[in-house]
Amino acid sequence: MKRTDTIIIGGGQAGLAMSRCLTDDGIDHVVLERGRVAERWRSERWDSLRLLSPKWHTRLPGFRYQGADRDGFMTMPEIISYFERYAQSFAAPVQDETTVLGVERAEDGYRVRTDQGDWEAPTVVVATGHSDVPFVPKAAAGLSPNVHQVVPSHYKYPDQLPQGGVLVVGASASGIQLAQEIHRSGRPVTLAVGHHIRIPRRYRGRDISWWLEASGILDERAERAFNLESARRQPSLQLVGTPDHKTIDLGVLQDEGVRLAGRVDSTDGTRIRFRDDLESNIGAAEDKLDRVLGRIDAFIGETLMAADASDRCSPIVAKEAPTELDLRDAGISSVLWATGYRRRYPWLNVPVLNIRGEIIHDEGVTPAAGLYALGLNFQRTRKSSFIDGVGDDARALAEHITRRFHRSSIAA
Ligand SMILES: Cc1cc2nc3c(=O)[nH]c(=O)nc-3n(C[C@H](O)[C@H](O)[C@H](O)COP(=O)(O)OP(=O)(O)OC[C@H]3O[C@@H](n4cnc5c(N)ncnc54)[C@H](O)[C@@H]3O)c2cc1C
Repeated sequence: MKRTDTIIIGGGQAGLAMSRCLTDDGIDHVVLERGRVAERWRSERWDSLRLLSPKWHTRLPGFRYQGADRDGFMTMPEIISYFERYAQSFAAPVQDETTVLGVERAEDGYRVRTDQGDWEAPTVVVATGHSDVPFVPKAAAGLSPNVHQVVPSHYKYPDQLPQGGVLVVGASASGIQLAQEIHRSGRPVTLAVGHHIRIPRRYRGRDISWWLEASGILDERAERAFNLESARRQPSLQLVGTPDHKTIDLGVLQDEGVRLAGRVDSTDGTRIRFRDDLESNIGAAEDKLDRVLGRIDAFIGETLMAADASDRCSPIVAKEAPTELDLRDAGISSVLWATGYRRRYPWLNVPVLNIRGEIIHDEGVTPAAGLYALGLNFQRTRKSSFIDGVGDDARALAEHITRRFHRSSIAA
């Protein structure tokens, strides 16, 4: 049995940021990672993916992008190397190839069972990722076995798919990128569009990330959210990072020949039914877009900042959408479910999960003393699950952990 003060589970950006903060505070700890540092970026992303955050917008505690291409977007090899250099910069105590199999209460905190032996510590931080397990709607089960089905974390490049058309389900960050890439590879794409958040890449002369940060939108606290549960379930922004800094939205995709449809409702063999909600989904996204851009305009007005004139995005006018398709007749051989992620904690044997299987927490502090979560969507602020946002949350948790150790050393 090995002992330390804090066990961090997961060696992605959240686990590393936490490790850096605990290192700064002199707290002994270990990071247990089932693969290698930044494993998701190595094994669960597609080949052409670039970050949607500009390079300057990847700051972590004690580390930032230092190159000249500040406004560019990192490729996957670049982001992996970035995280490797981050871990090396403070000699992060990562024990890789170590899968956590169980977390139980122990006399003095928690026992963490792994496939490389057991650990004990008074505090544990769960940093296993918000985008953990791909979520696939129940309708997928009704599809014929002849239809190839894939999720973004298993998709690498278009030629991996069987010949023929592709139905991409989901029009958030992953869905729109993959719809464009697959369509451009010569496979006709139909895109099923549900709830989504439209946002332009650039607005009034600057990258949208700059405005979201400067106007304070990214720093909005969870405690101020009108409906926090629903805010935490928001889909990712419809945003991509490409060398030309162009926006991809439903209008761009439609102009390139992608056929738009409403949300997938049900399936039966090769038949698929769509809801008649494409227009209303687009309308809801336009309203949200107007509110966000309106807040940025107001910020510019209040601060008297110099900014280009308003360049509101042109409205998206959808062509007639199918309500039903026979995939075989339509020449569609694959369905790509870009329908988001869920979290799974089958190894967490501490009663902190709610009815949906999500960790119950207040800004990362769970009801079980000494057990914390980090990297969840809107955990503390809107930016909590972003590379640039997790650092603030890690600092706050490190303070909490340090206070806890301080109190127990006074009591001893
Ligand atoms: C396709 C995609 C693109 C994204 N692009 C951006 C972007 O451009 N900018 C941005 O800011 N954010 C982006 N995000 C959001 C976010 O930054 C990533 O999801 C990021 O990977 C989250 O980091 P994390 O450390 O919280 O979790 P993860 O990166 O998921 O790390 C969790 C780690 O825990 C490990 N683990 C899991 N279970 C166990 C176990 N039982 N035992 C041991 N280890 C375990 C995993 O191997 C993994 O390495 C993107 C997300 C996705 C899905």
